[in-house]
Amino acid sequence: MTTLLAFGAHPDDIEIGCGGTVRRLIEQGWRAVHGCVTSGEAGSSTIDRATLAATREQEARRAAEVLGSERVEFLRAPDGLTQYSREQKIDVIDLIRAVRPQILFVHASSDAFPDHRVVHELVMAAVAGAAGPWYQEAKGEPHVPATILGYEVWHPLSTHQLAVDISATVERKLEALRCHQSQIEPTHYDEAFLGLARYRGVMSFTGTYAEVFEVLCTPLSLPAGLA
Ligand SMILES: [Zn+2]
Repeated sequence: MTTLLAFGAHPDDIEIGCGGTVRRLIEQGWRAVHGCVTSGEAGSSTIDRATLAATREQEARRAAEVLGSERVEFLRAPDGLTQYSREQKIDVIDLIRAVRPQILFVHASSDAFPDHRVVHELVMAAVAGAAGPWYQEAKGEPHVPATILGYEVWHPLSTHQLAVDISATVERKLEALRCHQSQIEPTHYDEAFLGLARYRGVMSFTGTYAEVFEVLCTPLSLPAGLA
């Protein structure tokens, strides 16, 4: 079975950045797994961290269910990541080797938000680590994803190499986004990302709504599901 693995720094990043594309692939028979690096416990000034982490993990599980993804793996790194540890890198290597994705999604390299930037670096370092026999403490057999796509969250990409028509799945993406009640209530960003998807659709001539990606690693041709 063809498999995708999507990493996000916070519980809502995957739905924001690639939820429509993930759903599109699932509808074509792909298996999807989410890797959530932190549980987003710093995302409120009024709710204590343990309560918020539990709430946000539940929201992420519900959102993944709405998309039709198989499961969410929580790495539980501290929210507000300024650097990553060797242990966190091993956790990501283990997950890549266990899930063995053909497509891997991660924050784009130009994302300026600190946690997103660190998670981009962490995942790209782990991709290199997962490819060979270099980490003896890591589990599983070496694996290389065929395609790695960088998505946008709060900082729209200034250039992209791939636009995916999500017109048929944008409603599902919004439904998944709205599972993140603790975040949507104070900031109605579902409306902002609907606007961004509309902008991407029009400006890329792809469809009514689109998501765009930085192609970080690709074989000679894109998987049939995205062509
Ligand atoms: Zn985030």
